[in-house]
Amino acid sequence: MYKITQIVNRAGVPSPWRREVGCGESYVDLTNPALKGVRVIRPPKATSKDVSRIVYDSDGHPIRLAPPIFTDEEFDQLQDRLKQNAKYGARKGTRGSGKQLSRFLGVIQCGNCQANIYKHVTKKKRKDGTTRSTSRLRCSSYTKEPCGAPSFDPDEMYGALADTVLDELGDYEVIHREYARGAENLARVTELQGSIKHYMDGLVPGGAFAVGGFIQKQAEEALQKLGAELSGIDPESTQDSWHYRSIGVTYREHWSNLGIDQMEKDLLRGGITFLVHTDHCDLLIPDDVKQRLVVKDDYFKNLK
Ligand SMILES: [Zn+2]
Repeated sequence: MYKITQIVNRAGVPSPWRREVGCGESYVDLTNPALKGVRVIRPPKATSKDVSRIVYDSDGHPIRLAPPIFTDEEFDQLQDRLKQNAKYGARKGTRGSGKQLSRFLGVIQCGNCQANIYKHVTKKKRKDGTTRSTSRLRCSSYTKEPCGAPSFDPDEMYGALADTVLDELGDYEVIHREYARGAENLARVTELQGSIKHYMDGLVPGGAFAVGGFIQKQAEEALQKLGAELSGIDPESTQDSWHYRSIGVTYREHWSNLGIDQMEKDLLRGGITFLVHTDHCDLLIPDDVKQRLVVKDDYFKNLK
């Protein structure tokens, strides 16, 4: 997007605001269906984030005003790409640093010096003008005082890590920790105790319900019912507590559904490291990994 604005500004294309075109304006332009040569209107109460709507004629066809700049297909492709860029960024990593998103940062570590291992991308221009980019995984000591560890092929390394992790942890169940509030049960217990006292007081000789016949029978029945409910409440459940629950999914299934990003997060949470040596790799799993892997949903977040 930034490059587009550079090109547009270099070409001297005026912006409606008589200054240089910015990314936001380009985004608005590129998401406008008017690029398909159809009439558009702004939706009522539209904000700058809303996209203009296509105007349809009485037969339900878009009203064509001009030859399209983009065909429907091109326009859809463009929208997909813009959405993708908005979500993941047009380029990952730091601009110009030669680094690209390093996967499993904090998990993959150098076997020589335990430093993190980063992905470095080298771009070389070929004679015919095309560029060739190669990426290698290198220990972060490489940029200061190299520890002597070799560099590795990223795809091979990520593959080896994923395979080892699946072998070791794939059968573990995904366990969630949930917060159970005792307050509601406690309130009910207090209520029940109050009602029971009310009936008991009334049923002692001379009391309001101790009159025999229908009234006394009703009061006795009510008392019995309340007593049963009270004894059915587990005293433990009146205290706030954590519950651990399996969601019936193994980590193998979990990762095959949610992908490598999820594996990355889970390994970090589990304190798992992958030490890379020249000739082999060690997956280090802490003893308490099962506890560490418990998904601690932020219960309190939802209460606000
Ligand atoms: Zn190292």
